[in-house]
Amino acid sequence: MTIAPWLPPVHRRPDLPAAVRIWEVAPRDGLQNEPSVVPAQVKAELVTRLVDAGLTTVETTSFVNPARVPQLADAEEVFSLLAPLRGTWEQARGAGLRFPALVPNLAGLERAVSSGVRDVCVFASATETFARRNLDRSRDEALEMFAPVVAGAKADGLGVRAYVSMCFGDPWEGPVAAEGVVSVCERLLEMGADEVSLGDTIGVATTGQVVDVLDALARAGIVADQVAVHFHDTYGQALANTLTALSCGVTTVDSSAGGIGGCPFAKSATGNLATEDLCWALAGAGVATGVDLGRLVETSVWMAEHLGRPSPSKVVRALAQGHRSRE
Ligand code: MG
Repeated sequence: MTIAPWLPPVHRRPDLPAAVRIWEVAPRDGLQNEPSVVPAQVKAELVTRLVDAGLTTVETTSFVNPARVPQLADAEEVFSLLAPLRGTWEQARGAGLRFPALVPNLAGLERAVSSGVRDVCVFASATETFARRNLDRSRDEALEMFAPVVAGAKADGLGVRAYVSMCFGDPWEGPVAAEGVVSVCERLLEMGADEVSLGDTIGVATTGQVVDVLDALARAGIVADQVAVHFHDTYGQALANTLTALSCGVTTVDSSAGGIGGCPFAKSATGNLATEDLCWALAGAGVATGVDLGRLVETSVWMAEHLGRPSPSKVVRALAQGHRSRE
């Protein structure tokens, strides 16, 4: 199926950046939450199709304990399937393409580097309870665990992103104070992380809180260049929150093609912001993303067929249905 979507008319919003880097998370954050295991060949094709649709940063997999996340137990195989498609990993990086992978500890970092990974992510928590439930240790102990991982990755010349989950609300602790988010972000950046990605893991943030958290970070000297945002759509606020963050100077946004995924360890979480919904909004606001929306929608329709259910993305549904109505 070829989809040649119309795009919204452009009404440039001067309060938004001219261009945004989309950090595509479907192959990792999306697929790790799937009940079924997607074959490695399909994962590799998904990554390839996302790059062909114009996404330059595609978080590819996780080198987590396979027993803990069996959906991504084939991390090495996925990277080996991708390797011949893009020259060497250094060449891909030189061409501006990034294929980050999540690494939970030094063993994961070692596996990732052996597979050619040049950009890694660690996963911290802004709250004590989530750290204990998800990482099995206190918030500070988890941060200590990441220090050698970040140092080792930087020593090898890798890019390092640190996810910070539960930045806006926690299912056990309720609202999260901005000061706690700031202190965790400060620690991770001091360790050497290049950027922090603020996760609204249970999707409870609203736009004023987004401004408050970003203001608190700015007051602590953490500039927008070091910050990405990762919103979930539990209450339908992901896109509004993302646009608010962009109006505060953030230029890196996490989203998931087709809106797949959430968090397997936070039961109340629903899907990631759909990349298509984000691209549609940014196209209308005159913000460059480099994404070919038609190719992206085709990819998400293809992936939805593999997953056996339709994409939750409204833009995917609208454009795919529009296509059919014109046939
Ligand atoms: Mg997510």
